[in-house]
This record gives sequence, structure tokens and C-alpha cells, in this order.
Amino acid sequence: MENLRQRRAKNPCSLLLSFVLITALSSSISATSPLPRSDQGTEQHASSPEHDKPHVHEVHCSRERSRAAWKVIEEYLMPFVEREKYELPRQCRLHPSNDIFRDQEEHKIHLDVNEWKCGYCRKSFRAEKFLDQHFDNRHSNLLDVSHSKCLADVCGALHCDLVMEFKSKKAKCNPAAAARNRHLCEGLADSCFPANKSPSSTRLHELFLRQFCDAHTCSGGRKPFSRGGKKHINRFYLAASVLTLMLLPLFYLIVYLYQREMKKGTQELRRITKVGRKAKPS
Ligand SMILES: [Zn+2]
Repeated sequence: MENLRQRRAKNPCSLLLSFVLITALSSSISATSPLPRSDQGTEQHASSPEHDKPHVHEVHCSRERSRAAWKVIEEYLMPFVEREKYELPRQCRLHPSNDIFRDQEEHKIHLDVNEWKCGYCRKSFRAEKFLDQHFDNRHSNLLDVSHSKCLADVCGALHCDLVMEFKSKKAKCNPAAAARNRHLCEGLADSCFPANKSPSSTRLHELFLRQFCDAHTCSGGRKPFSRGGKKHINRFYLAASVLTLMLLPLFYLIVYLYQREMKKGTQELRRITKVGRKAKPS
């Protein structure tokens, strides 16, 4: 009985103790529970598109126009530069190191019409524009914006609009803009191909003026890229010529066999007629 009473007497105490313990525990749980929740929050935030927005560098250079400028350089200038075995000086704005997007562009892997791959992290994309977005979001820290110039800035001189996928409607020629582009163009010729540096530099200087700068006029008549560009081998013509080369021997073989058969036929006919003549007198 004594024991029981003691237990009963203890019971309120233990109840109070357990209450305190439970409240203490629950408060500690509630104090720790926001942590994982906030962790989840940041994780969700990390995968949300808002977090993907570039925050490291603010790039004020059009990737699309830079790409168009590079396309023009590759197509209408480099074939001549390579032929002359000329090396562009680094201060030339057309030098690859002056295109901030060059490294990223070279890390594009085009596997199929609808398959593009990031060369840095191997992620796949359905279209080039998604890969561009991925570069902006994930690899913008790789852009060297410290000293590089924006290649898109020389688009006016290089007639980028002519190679852009979505060509803008031809606007009325603006004499002031034409003069400005011509000035920019001639500046490029001077810095990239100094006139008296070497014979090849002089030749390329001349070519650059004809190829790009002459057309910056409102008087008309002059077309850009007058000296031509890279020669493209048309796949269709290539396939057609290979097929022709393969079928030609077959054709001759058929003609040869046919003629041989014809000859045999006439010889036999002659023999028959000879035999016929010999048989008559007897
Ligand atoms: Zn990547």
C-alpha cells in the first residue's frame, strides 16, 4: 500500500516531468524541423528557372549576331586568309579571341537535326536555341568578358543581315549609316591587314575593301561578297556523280554483250546462207 501510494504520489510528478520533456522535445523538433524544410526550399529554388538566370556576368552582346558575324568571316574571308597563309593579328577585331562566344560555340555538338549536345556537361537538347539558353544559364561563368570585344559590334561592316536566318526586310538605304559602316569596315581592313606589312597583307587589305567595304554605299550597284566565298560541295550532286560513276561500267558491259550477241547472230545467218548456196548446185 505504501508503495502504491508512493507511486501515486510520484505519478503527478512524473506526469509533469514527461509533459515538460514532451514539450521540450516537440519544441526542439519544431526548432530543427524548419531546417530541412528550408533546405528543400533552396533545392527547389536551385532547380527553378529563376535561379537559372545569369547572375555572374551581365553580357551585353548578342549571341545571334556574333554568330552571324562569325559565319560571314568563315565563309567570305577565311578562305582567302588561309590561301595567303596569313595570320590575323590579335588586335584585329575579327580574330577568334575577340569573340566572347567562340569557346561556347566550339563546345556545341550537333549530332542530328534535332539533337544538340553541350560539350561541357554532355546534356542534350532538341534545338540550338535551348543549348544557347543552357550556355547562358549554366556556363556563363566561362565567358571571358574581361577584355574580349563583342563580335556583333562589327556586324554593320560585315553585312551580317545577309546571313541571318530571319532576314529583316530591306530598309531604305540610310546614307549616314552607310558612311558609318564604311568607316568601320575600312578600320577593320587597316587593323587586320595593315597595308604595308607584307605582300599578303596588302593583297588581303585590297580584297577586304572589295569584298566588304565597297557595298556600303547608297548609290547602289555594288554587292557585298563580290569575290565569292567558300565552295560548298552539294550533297545531291556528290551522290549523283558517284551513282553515275558506278552505273557507267554496267552500261558499257550491257552494250558490249548486246553487240557481241548481234555479231554472233549475223555470223550464224551468213553460215546458214553459205550452206544454203552450197547445197543448191548439187
Ligand atoms: Zn552544359
